[in-house]
Amino acid sequence: MRSTAPAKAASILTVDYEDWFHVAHPAACDPAVWDDLPSDIEDDTHHLLDVLDQHNAKATFFVVGWLAARTPDTLREIVRRGHRIGLHSYFHTPPNRMSEVEFQEDLLRCQRETAAITGVTARGYRAPYFGVRDCSFSYLEVLRRCGLSYDASVLAGFLPGRGQPRAPVAPHPTDSRKPSFWEVPIPAVRIAGFPVAFSGGGFLRLLPAWFVRWSSRRVAGSGTPVVYYIHPRDLNPAGRTTPTGIVRRVRYYGGRSTTQRKLEEILRASRVLSVEEFLSTAFGLSAHEMTDEIEGLTLVSPGR
Ligand SMILES: [Zn+2]
Repeated sequence: MRSTAPAKAASILTVDYEDWFHVAHPAACDPAVWDDLPSDIEDDTHHLLDVLDQHNAKATFFVVGWLAARTPDTLREIVRRGHRIGLHSYFHTPPNRMSEVEFQEDLLRCQRETAAITGVTARGYRAPYFGVRDCSFSYLEVLRRCGLSYDASVLAGFLPGRGQPRAPVAPHPTDSRKPSFWEVPIPAVRIAGFPVAFSGGGFLRLLPAWFVRWSSRRVAGSGTPVVYYIHPRDLNPAGRTTPTGIVRRVRYYGGRSTTQRKLEEILRASRVLSVEEFLSTAFGLSAHEMTDEIEGLTLVSPGR
């Protein structure tokens, strides 16, 4: 008997692969001391991978290169379980805090590191902190030059200093005349004309589940896939937090006891894909463009 259940809408899940001290912590901008701090990333990531497996969901993991170099087995496990790898800079530095040369070097270093570990070439990029506003150069041009196929650094909602409230909310080619490079934004829902983000980070952790559900349906109902973004630490209510500042603690770690429940509701309600799977099924980007696995890769890993 044929099922009459309606097909689930597709949504996109992205994960920023970074540790608890890469944001908010006093040492977030000082890689020299990171090796002295305890790490939660591997336990948190294995838990997240199990949750995704239970729902047969796939995601793109945007990886901090420094962390990849220290957790190669977990990175390979992410790929082994069918997820995709993207770039999240080597030292978690946004492009608007770098020169063009520094940005390109940081990006290539991250790309070489992740490729050397996994044998897979990353196709996309997400800027740390969505930090692409007021860049002194065209960061998209650098991404293209480095062989990437998409950017996921635009948060199309209100977020002081970071959001781009007037940006389109749906995935789109950055140049409609030659659709070889794509922007995959984090969407927002308009409430009285005000664009409210809801699908990741502090928004997903702190907003009530009913609002996330309602916003997701509204965006999906307009034909736009919802792009969600989480961090492995978001699912661990007992994980470490920054030692200073209640506002920072709430902003970066608050609401973690609610996140797994919200994520599982999302995983049940929609067909959850990686960015690469979505672009290749919805827009026909070729398997070569999206899944260029390198046989016998012998890239030299940069110095640590
Ligand atoms: Zn980040």
